[in-house]
Amino acid sequence: MKSESDDVLRDFEKIVKEIIPDDCGFSKIEAEGLSIVIYVDDIKTFYETNQLIRKIAGALKKQIKIRSTPSFRKDPEETKQFIQKVVPEDAGVNGIYFNPLFGEVNVEAMKPGLVIGKGGETLKKIIKSTGWVVNVLRIPTMESSTITGVRKSLLKEADERKKFLNKLGSRILRSYEEPSTWVKVSALGGAREVGRSCFFVETSNSKILLDCGINPDTSDKHRSFPALNEMGCSLSELDAVVLSHAHLDHSGFIPYLYAYGYEGPLYCTHPTRDLSVMLQMDYLNLVNKSNSVVPYSVKDIHNELLHTIPLDFGEVVDITPEIKLTLYNAGHILGSAITHLHINNGLHNLVYTGDLKFGFTQLFDPAHVQFPRAETLIMESTYGGKGDIMPNRKETEQMMMDVVKKTIERGGKVLVPVFAVGRSQEIMLVFERYMREMGLEVPVYLDGMIREASAIHTAYPEYLKHNVRNKILSGRSPFESEIFETVKNNRQEIIDGDPCVILATAGMMSGGPVLEYFKQLASDEKNSIVFVGYQSPLSLGRKIQRGSLNEVPLPTPNGKTDIVNVNMEIFTVDGFSGHSDRRQLLAYVKNLEPKPKRVILCHGEDKKVNNLASTINKMFKIKTDSPMVLDTLRLK
Ligand SMILES: [Zn+2]
Ligand SMILES: [Zn+2]
Repeated sequence: MKSESDDVLRDFEKIVKEIIPDDCGFSKIEAEGLSIVIYVDDIKTFYETNQLIRKIAGALKKQIKIRSTPSFRKDPEETKQFIQKVVPEDAGVNGIYFNPLFGEVNVEAMKPGLVIGKGGETLKKIIKSTGWVVNVLRIPTMESSTITGVRKSLLKEADERKKFLNKLGSRILRSYEEPSTWVKVSALGGAREVGRSCFFVETSNSKILLDCGINPDTSDKHRSFPALNEMGCSLSELDAVVLSHAHLDHSGFIPYLYAYGYEGPLYCTHPTRDLSVMLQMDYLNLVNKSNSVVPYSVKDIHNELLHTIPLDFGEVVDITPEIKLTLYNAGHILGSAITHLHINNGLHNLVYTGDLKFGFTQLFDPAHVQFPRAETLIMESTYGGKGDIMPNRKETEQMMMDVVKKTIERGGKVLVPVFAVGRSQEIMLVFERYMREMGLEVPVYLDGMIREASAIHTAYPEYLKHNVRNKILSGRSPFESEIFETVKNNRQEIIDGDPCVILATAGMMSGGPVLEYFKQLASDEKNSIVFVGYQSPLSLGRKIQRGSLNEVPLPTPNGKTDIVNVNMEIFTVDGFSGHSDRRQLLAYVKNLEPKPKRVILCHGEDKKVNNLASTINKMFKIKTDSPMVLDTLRLK
């Protein structure tokens, strides 16, 4: 028996055959992920016939991909030579790989623009002459093992990926007997708390997860992971998972979904895909070392990658037959996105901010505020409390440099616990500029995944603010300044050596190399520690930040405990945050177009969430909610 999607596809085939002229040689149509793929024998004639793609896309109301029938493609070796001939040498091509199942040739280049050509003319030339579609990939200016690994995996597992995409394509094509009449959202994590962010959006026909993170700062298993058991359905029934950004409190539990029965797609931006893989691998490594419970394995991260469908900002896609998804810039970290769901022809529109920066940073434009429609806004509240007003950026940068100068002058070292992704790069840009201007010649050491994360930034300059982007594109990447040194096997030498600045993970001191430095630097009053990011109430970072511990017990690798005396000077410099402060959160709601009818607040400590909810309610006369984990709200 044929399924319903086959009927849809047969109807599509009839329409396409009527539009495509016979001399193009239509050979096959298939559903593949979000697209309908059409195979033709003579792709040259196809492209030279006016407006064919536009006509087909208009008739099917779908994303269309055109491929030449495999037997009509030129031989790979010949194609390779042709590409080398038509692409200018300045493009810095360093790798041409074929992916026959997708009719694609991956061309890795330092300058993708030169491979594409003016108005895409070089790409067109290649496809018309060879039948291969070029997939241009930017080579990061700093070598990144993550990006190399991700690209290799996707190529090696093309077979599996193709099967998954065809299956997904069929699933999206089916139609529902009855259109949805209601929408509800349940908080499974990250509600009146920071960590394990996870929302479950449900209609009569669709089931979607927004984020699925861990709380890395607690070992309490009831608060470490989202309450997936309370979803009321099995993981295999989920239609889609949408990931806002790569931080583990949003992405850290996604591989678990694949380990326990989920086989559907993960939607996020390209950089979020790569950064998530990097952070999840790092997390697994740390957990394995600490003998704690490991919720999943490398194989599951790999599986997640195979099922990831990367999207660009502003691209509108059908993720179920009745839900359209669009991602927009959230301004928080590289690739961070606001999720917009358009449900059942406008029955309801939901905007989920993920982590949000609506203010100035060196790296990103402020968060997007205009949406076609938005009845409900789910917004983060990390710094939504009464007193959460950050100093302005100029003061913040000055404060940081004052600490550095003072500490270096007295012969000490400055330790900055950071997240590998986000604050590290923001602070690197500040150091790069000020040290040059101040003539301070001290090395800045990077330990943990910071260098690797920075390298991933250089593969996606289009996501960065224009001046940083231009520097990277013109070969002057600030991340490669000579003041930065990556720590390899010389950690002890650095600890014993001359005054310096050390950026080390993890940001809340829950583990990672920062603990090693802290252990050895804490007792010397000449040294300083500077907190620049959010510290959760449960974290060691928060306890040290508050100065409430004169002695810190730290576990040693052999299972014993070291007592560390804290004499180093403790500073907090808040203004670098990738989160909005209270004023910026209120400004975000104020600037949002159109005005939402309801605001649901999450990703904040109890008091802060409640306080922000009541302020928004009073200021804007909007219904607000501050759900707890396990609460379900009906939106429509
Ligand atoms: Zn984040
Ligand atoms: Zn977060």
